[in-house]
Amino acid sequence: MSQTLQDRELAAVIGLEVHVQLETDTKIFCGCSTAAAEDEAPNSRTCPTCLGLPGALPVLNEAAVESAVKIGKALDAEIPEETTFHRKNYFYPDLPKGFQLTQYDAPICADGELELRVEGDRRTISVRRAHLEEDPGSLQHEGGNIDTADYTLINYNRAGTPLMEIVTQPDFRSPAETRAFLAKLEEVLEYLGVFDATRDGSLRVDANISMVAADDVAEDGTISEEVLESANRTEVKNISSHKAAEDALAYEVTRQRNAVKRGRAVEQETRHWDESRGVTVSMRSKEEEKDYRYFREADLPPLQVADWKERIPIPELPDARRQRFQTEYGLSQEAASKLTSRKSVADLYEEVAETFDPGLAATWVADNLIGELNYRDMVVADITDRLDEFEELVRLVAEDEVTTKNAEEIVFRRMLDEGESPQEIIEAEGLGKASGGEVEQAVAEAIEENPEAVADYESGDDGALNFLVGQVMQKTGGSADPGQVNQLLREELEG
Ligand code: ADP
Ligand code: MG
Ligand code: ZN
Repeated sequence: MSQTLQDRELAAVIGLEVHVQLETDTKIFCGCSTAAAEDEAPNSRTCPTCLGLPGALPVLNEAAVESAVKIGKALDAEIPEETTFHRKNYFYPDLPKGFQLTQYDAPICADGELELRVEGDRRTISVRRAHLEEDPGSLQHEGGNIDTADYTLINYNRAGTPLMEIVTQPDFRSPAETRAFLAKLEEVLEYLGVFDATRDGSLRVDANISMVAADDVAEDGTISEEVLESANRTEVKNISSHKAAEDALAYEVTRQRNAVKRGRAVEQETRHWDESRGVTVSMRSKEEEKDYRYFREADLPPLQVADWKERIPIPELPDARRQRFQTEYGLSQEAASKLTSRKSVADLYEEVAETFDPGLAATWVADNLIGELNYRDMVVADITDRLDEFEELVRLVAEDEVTTKNAEEIVFRRMLDEGESPQEIIEAEGLGKASGGEVEQAVAEAIEENPEAVADYESGDDGALNFLVGQVMQKTGGSADPGQVNQLLREELEG
């Protein structure tokens, strides 16, 4: 194969196995808490079941299955009548039982898909299967990495955290597509309320990649099973972000391309993404399925899930909400996209748009709020206790109590910097718009104090009016509305 590949144009083929931690209160097979397991004292969130002590039995967590069904519905996947659990046997210190409880030939979801946009193009990625399993514990290498450490500590707090493994078809044709997929997947999972992207290690990716001849890719992007199976592929592990997926795969595309061009075969192997060095490193030859000695978990009876799909509702998903924002609020596609990619932002927008003009609400949430938060490396969740004050600020702008410019540039920033309320800041900084009476007073003063300018205006010099406007603005400390001042001056001088 590689002999003939050598002189042909190449195309990359990529498939992902994405592990996401499900946000449940307790672990998947025991009652231990999953809450911020990493912040707790090591090995404090454990029990005989998740430590794999002899005789301890698993009990399936219903909430984990519900989350899995929600993911299946969101991916438009099939949910079978019956789903079962298997033991995947391998020895590693993070796996106290010597096997991982997972699913094998009857996963909870099969044949789904996710639609996404990559650089303006619509792409559909097929999902082969998605199954439930338990997370292993975590290893902490002291004084170095896995090869150089003096010793290694094991923390079983994470062991038994529910995972959903989502396996795609090899439908990706570029590293950039995998990044877009992961971003979209995260959006959907967040909308479903089953996943916390801010949690360390909550998303982990194994990326499979091979090179095939470009003319083996059909016009519609499909590749025959035969070509896929005969292509030598590597599986890159230790990818924990969207960007890392793109970077690791870009590296691997170049490495494999160079190997093929030099007439060398790509080894079928597992590689490790070394993020700090920006390279993939060979770990071991790839395990084969038979190495795992899969067999049915006799301690967990088959689970009947036929009617769960009907029973468990899912909320409106990002694509639908994006569409609705355009039709219901008259927003541009760009504004709607910006406002819907995080559920917390979309929720806030709808709350603000209910009370105020939808256009004003969009500017404030999409541009001012998100812009300022991005600048500070913060998200909406970081300011949940300030959202009432944020709405109050939008109200003050909507009701002309403060100018848009001052609200954006002074009040909102100081709200975030100093934690004061918008009212307090407006008062302290004297930013309130001058009241009608104040402006009229200033207009009268300006006319009285500048008889020459008044005479010039009356003899037809419009520039003199600008001078008078400037005088009024000065007297009101810039808080008057120049258009209104102009109007008032004309009325006074002509009336
Ligand atoms: P394994 O048995 O090695 O785990 P699977 O058939 O389960 O292999 O597929 C694992 C992942 O590899 C899937 O995400 C799939 O899309 C991907 N994959 C399959 N064939 C290829 C290929 N030729 N190139 C890249 N990825 C592939
Ligand atoms: Mg596999
Ligand atoms: Zn436990």
